[in-house]
Amino acid sequence: MNHPGEQTDEKCPECRKGLLVLTRRTEDFDFDAGDGIVVRAHAQNVPVKQCPKCGEEFFGPEAAHIRHDAVCVAMGYLTPTEYRRIREGLDWSQQELADLTGYGVATVSRAERGRQLPNRNYDKTLRALRDCPPYRDELAKQLVAPTQDQAAETVPGGDVAVSISVAHSEFTFRPRALSRERQAELSGRARSFRPSRPSRLQRV
Ligand SMILES: [Zn+2]
Repeated sequence: MNHPGEQTDEKCPECRKGLLVLTRRTEDFDFDAGDGIVVRAHAQNVPVKQCPKCGEEFFGPEAAHIRHDAVCVAMGYLTPTEYRRIREGLDWSQQELADLTGYGVATVSRAERGRQLPNRNYDKTLRALRDCPPYRDELAKQLVAPTQDQAAETVPGGDVAVSISVAHSEFTFRPRALSRERQAELSGRARSFRPSRPSRLQRV
């Protein structure tokens, strides 16, 4: 359903004559997912600014988000907001989720920003974290309290380096893309990964 327009004080960037009018509308559109798969998406309350003089329409980031969510729903995926909510509900950073599940942190970040559709396996993993407590708990076990030595391995700049011994190899995990709060938290309470099943930490 369309709502009556709300006059803005923004001049039309196209004709520079009219003042844009903001409306919200429902959109039904086809999304081509490739491999011959086309789904019908249903987006509600999409904000659009229209020029009454030249008829040009303008869309911002909010419209893009709403359309992306509609495509996610049509494709049977969770939405970016849901992915973020699940992770934050576990109190894991993006890096922690990436390392515990074997996905790259870029995959986690992209899924939460809604820049592109996630892969099907990532969606399944996040659903399992949401719906399957034993799976969640099993992964959470790999986040354990640090030893004194590991807690001391804080390098300047708030970065935290934690050594991980996996089988006979030794490598260093450095959290990236953490919020300031998270960095502060990690500096005071560094966590190390002690995988009961080392293969979980192998990157794909
Ligand atoms: Zn115009």
